[in-house]
Amino acid sequence: MPESTFVHPLFGEVRFETRHDYWKRGDHITFISGFDSADVTPIFIPQLKDIPGSNGGKLRFHKRGQQQLLDVFHEIEAQALLRFVKTCAGTLNRRLRKPTSGALSKLPSNHAFGIAIDMNEDDPGFGDSVAPVAPIFQKYGFMWGKSFNDPMHFEIEKFREA
Ligand SMILES: [Zn+2]
Repeated sequence: MPESTFVHPLFGEVRFETRHDYWKRGDHITFISGFDSADVTPIFIPQLKDIPGSNGGKLRFHKRGQQQLLDVFHEIEAQALLRFVKTCAGTLNRRLRKPTSGALSKLPSNHAFGIAIDMNEDDPGFGDSVAPVAPIFQKYGFMWGKSFNDPMHFEIEKFREA
């Protein structure tokens, strides 16, 4: 179980260990300190209720980011853009990053912190299918993974707390 420290831009210094006794791409991780996984709590996103892969809209997300995620989907619906949301491949996933290059990363994925969501993973057009909704994510403080070759991925760059 390699142990490692990572300084997260939103959470500060966190310590974690992986499941296997060697560094394995995408390995499951457990936080030892600096991050409380209990802060990732259930959320219901009504607009995703009938979207394949979304577990009926019942997902888990970091509590500090839940309102902005709800706001994103509310606005996607209000702008009549829900048709561009084809599938959802989930939010919380306690694992290392899996760079699209196929390389090993020793850094925790933002899915492990419950601040990322994947959509339209089967899009052959490198993000074309989610491009119409990307500006809405960005408006509410998310970064689009297209900038790091992961166009199905959106993650919180900045919490928008009341
Ligand atoms: Zn992702």
